[in-house]
This record gives sequence, structure tokens and C-alpha cells, in this order.
Amino acid sequence: MGNEAIFKGGSDNASGVSMLLYLAKYFTEHKPRCNVAFILFSGEEAGLIGSSFYTQNPMFPLRQIKCVVNIDIMGNAEKGITVVNGESCRKEFDLLQTINKEKNYLPEVKIRGQAAISDHYLFSESGVPAIFIYSNGGQGYYHDVFDTAENLMLTRFEEVAALLIDFASKI
Ligand SMILES: [Zn+2]
Repeated sequence: MGNEAIFKGGSDNASGVSMLLYLAKYFTEHKPRCNVAFILFSGEEAGLIGSSFYTQNPMFPLRQIKCVVNIDIMGNAEKGITVVNGESCRKEFDLLQTINKEKNYLPEVKIRGQAAISDHYLFSESGVPAIFIYSNGGQGYYHDVFDTAENLMLTRFEEVAALLIDFASKI
């Protein structure tokens, strides 16, 4: 699109960072049942560079991780969320669905097979249960000049957070 075009990344991935910070704040005030580590990886678009480095140089043994929940594109969850790698992580996917049905947070928790599209992937490849969650809804601005803060709706953002908080207390 030329030198003038800027992809600001409002939904992908500033909204993902926002969700991470929101949850980190929550868990600082409400101690979770098990330890929760928050990691922000860089270089995802450039080829999973950050998560590749991390899985090769982990700060604690990878086998101690119960589940990696990779979060991005939280811009609009009007229609719910999709769980990438939900087929291989059936236990984790079923738990998300059960909680959602019980609490009625989101219209849909969709399952999707494995895809090497984000930072959960290299954890999966290292034998760690890992899922990638993104929201569904809105105009779907993504990887373009329209993905800006102004176009962010953050619809059902708090419901997604509530679902993830319940998930962390039950996994
Ligand atoms: Zn992207």
C-alpha cells in the first residue's frame, strides 16, 4: 500500500495486549488457584520470533505449564470467540464451552483446528496444551489501515475476560 500507509493494529494486537493487562490487574487483586504467568511476545507477524525464542529459552520448565492461552484480536466479540487448536485441546475447549453455557457470557464459543498462525503454536509443538483465542464480530478490520483505536468497539470485552477468569479457576 506504499510508504504512507500505517497499520495501527487497534484490534490486532493492541486489544490483545489490553486483555492481558486487564487480566493481570485482576489476578494481582484476586490471587488465582494456580500461578498465572503473563507473557507478551514480539515478532509474531514476522514469524513467531518471540515465542520461538521463549520456547527455546523458557523461564521455568515448559512441562509445568497446564495450559497456554494465547489472546489476540479482542476488538469485538459480538458473535463470540474462536478457539484455535480446540480439537487437540478438547478438555480445555469443553471447559470453556461449559462455563460459557452456564454463565451465558458469549453467543458462541467456536472450535477450530490447529493452525500455525500465532504464538500458541510453538508451545503446542513443544508438547504444551496451547490454545489461541480471538473474537468474532464487527467490521473485521484486520491487517489494514482501518484497524485503528477509533474503530475498536470492544464489544463483550468484559464477558471474554470473565470467561477467562472462570477458566483459570477451574483448569
Ligand atoms: Zn496479525
